[in-house]
Amino acid sequence: MQVYLAQPRGFCAGVVRAIEIVERALEKHGPPVYVRHEIVHNKYVVESLKAKGAVFVEDLSEVPPRAVTVFSAHGVARTVEDEAAARGLPVLNATCPLVTKVHNQGKRYMSRGRTLVLIGHSGHPEVEGTMGQVPGPVHLVQNVTDVAALPLPLDTPMAYITQTTLSVDDTKDIISALEARFTDLQGPDIRDICYATQNRQSAVRDLGKLVDVILVVGAANSSNSNRLREIGTEAGVASYLIADGSELDPVWLKDAKAVGITAGASAPEVLVDDVIQALRRIGPVEVAVVPGREENIEFRLPAELVAG
Ligand code: SF4
Repeated sequence: MQVYLAQPRGFCAGVVRAIEIVERALEKHGPPVYVRHEIVHNKYVVESLKAKGAVFVEDLSEVPPRAVTVFSAHGVARTVEDEAAARGLPVLNATCPLVTKVHNQGKRYMSRGRTLVLIGHSGHPEVEGTMGQVPGPVHLVQNVTDVAALPLPLDTPMAYITQTTLSVDDTKDIISALEARFTDLQGPDIRDICYATQNRQSAVRDLGKLVDVILVVGAANSSNSNRLREIGTEAGVASYLIADGSELDPVWLKDAKAVGITAGASAPEVLVDDVIQALRRIGPVEVAVVPGREENIEFRLPAELVAG
């Protein structure tokens, strides 16, 4: 069987940085280090860090006094920052710099008196963090129907920002609906969209042209992994989201000549290898990487964790 690997796939720079912050914090301070929310949405990553001494909590009230605390890559609301400060917790902030950029854009629009719309998924931790960072009401829209339902006059000075794990393609219909409805609308530069989300989605579309089945390696609660699976399906290719090789169902591959594999931004390459191993147990496998965009983006670590 021919296996094609999407390029790029898997870890983005924000995820690499977030994991490294927890690892370096463990080295520097020793375990336990407390992490608010899954550092990134991947069970394998979370379990590996747990084994090294990270303790994952959903609420800061679970963190003991003075314990080193890491905020996850998704970002947090100001109330969470304030609570950590009030309790004197030493905090390392692993919020992805691209998420922080969205927070800052939102604050800028608001300071200019604009009414803010956030395009994103209700309940996602990044969305909760962003809504909680901007000082004022934020209208969350998830689809074009929500745009039509916004209780605002058409000439309201408006601005929008977007959840980073939505690509240009995901948001374009909603942005068009906002543009059609409001006469004074501003939005961020299209180049500000997260490069990793866009690149992984473009790569899965390219993959879809070559294969009969797409396997997306990622967690069920990972928004960008789910989206990759949806894009595969939209391209007319049977697409499945799997955490690792143990979830591979041979029935999916019954009539497949070529299988494509990609991975969400929070899924490590070791899990892609695990899926390839599972395919090898079914039959002989030839692996090739589809030519795609090279990524060489790196985000700096917090100064206190940089050696030297
Ligand atoms: S997907 Fe984009 S915004 Fe999210 S952590 Fe990765 S680089 Fe940052």
